[in-house]
Amino acid sequence: MRRRRLYEGKAKILFEGPEPGTLVQYFKDDATAYNNEKHGTITGKGVLNNRISEFLMSRLNDIGVPTHFLRRLNMREQLVHEVEVIPLEVVVRNVAAGSFSKRFRMEEGEPLPRSIVEYYYKSDELGDPLVTEEHITAFGWATTQDIDDMLQLTLRINDFLSGLFLGAGMRLVDFKLEFGRLYTEEDMRIVLADEISPDSCRLWDVTTGERMDKDRFRRDLGSIEEAYQEVARRLGVMPEAGPADVQGPKTVQ
Ligand code: UDP
Repeated sequence: MRRRRLYEGKAKILFEGPEPGTLVQYFKDDATAYNNEKHGTITGKGVLNNRISEFLMSRLNDIGVPTHFLRRLNMREQLVHEVEVIPLEVVVRNVAAGSFSKRFRMEEGEPLPRSIVEYYYKSDELGDPLVTEEHITAFGWATTQDIDDMLQLTLRINDFLSGLFLGAGMRLVDFKLEFGRLYTEEDMRIVLADEISPDSCRLWDVTTGERMDKDRFRRDLGSIEEAYQEVARRLGVMPEAGPADVQGPKTVQ
């Protein structure tokens, strides 16, 4: 079936969906870091992230968090609602790491006094700058009501996912969410969009502190494929050996 390609990003492609108001989200094995400076392939990542994100979005749907996720179609694709994208990355931090550690000169792994939510404006040219509510409302990226809705959802998602990952032996250090506006005939709702996967979360093994996320790629720590597989395994969503789609560990950079 030929489908119209609407958008190609770093890790995913969006195609026109089978019905109006739907899109097909295709998960690639490509990985980028440091605002596109580092490129690589993580074999089988797309298949695993498709499963992991399906699982997490479904559990969030179960507790009443609205998401764009409809259903998984195959190894690398899922059907989602078409939403109007809000051009923000909403980052939640439970523990200091990454750019936050640099900014505040805190040791990675230092717990924060409370969970901290940050907003970044999605712009490759500008390198996703940190922004405040002032910038968001002044530039019209979202309204105060939108921000309020996103914050409420984000805090619920953080509580729920922190517990879910802890139950599977992983510490949810920080993660990034994206939201969109879903329009129905009557109203508009803010829903969770994009994906939740080891590409967008920092996950540390509870006992060893080992990194089980994209930092293995960003920092050349090796065993990247194994880490993504282990996250899927611990969540109980490891794909059965498919048609040569998840091959053995192999990194091409
Ligand atoms: N993150 C993401 N996409 C981005 C930037 C960050 O998914 O474009 C995630 C990242 O995986 C981490 C969290 O958001 O879980 C916080 O990232 P940070 O600001 O520390 O940036 P980084 O250290 O990745 O540059």
